Amino acid sequence: MIQLHNVSLAYQNDMAALNNVSLKVPKGDFIFLTGQSGAGKSTLLKLLYGALDPTQGQVVIDGQNISRLSRSQIPHLRRKIGVVFQDFKLLPQRTVLENVAVTLEVLGWGKKDIGKKVYHILKQMGLEHKINSNPLRLSGGEQQRVALARALVNDPKILLADEPTGNLDEENKEQILSIFKEANIRGTTVVVATHDRRAIENSHRRLVVLEKGRIVEDSNVIAE
Ligand code: ADP
Ligand code: ADP
Repeated sequence: MIQLHNVSLAYQNDMAALNNVSLKVPKGDFIFLTGQSGAGKSTLLKLLYGALDPTQGQVVIDGQNISRLSRSQIPHLRRKIGVVFQDFKLLPQRTVLENVAVTLEVLGWGKKDIGKKVYHILKQMGLEHKINSNPLRLSGGEQQRVALARALVNDPKILLADEPTGNLDEENKEQILSIFKEANIRGTTVVVATHDRRAIENSHRRLVVLEKGRIVEDSNVIAE
């Protein structure tokens, strides 16, 4: 589902943020990407959803080489990929419903279908009673679940999460992690970047460790 072939990325004139990284994530896999702050985790995720182009090497998503995507090809890629961030990135002037509906609006869904589907996913997240709330009035854990609902509402092939449990307490972390696991069981390939050791240790999932832009450990190296 995800392949990186000898990928390097340097920000302007800087040292490489990623240095000759190769990685294969098969369909249906669930991996944790970890490493210290500055190791290159966010950079790697940005390459996967087309926010950055590699300086060298190739990124292949679902059989498509996305290393040199034109602007017009990005929406097609994004349909396959749900993304969640530590700071949620919810729209403050919109309701919970409207925040989640955005994903389906850009896909051209009709209003009625959107309403049904959004209600369904918010119910799964235990948030159906907050459907008309302003996201700013929700707790951190609830906001993160809205962000997850937005990322998952179109059943993406891939879910990418950047420090999704960073600001949450233990109970909320577990809830978020169990939503990832459920999405994974339904067939979504999941990549979670985190330095939250506790989350990783209890999960028994594949672990890929980055250090200074290189992969220094992979608990499940897949043979060529
Ligand atoms: P992590 O997510 O593991 O904390 P990042 O991918 O954010 O790591 O950063 C990797 C390296 O790239 C760091 O040295 C960071 O300072 C640098 N970096 C990240 N974003 C930028 C940017 N927009 N411009 C220049 N350097 C950046
Ligand atoms: P296409 O991908 O060619 O648009 P689809 O059969 O996937 O065809 O979808 C037709 C329309 O219905 C699209 O606008 C799609 O976003 C929407 N759609 C697909 N699945 C659902 C669903 N389960 N509920 C509501 N609308 C859906």
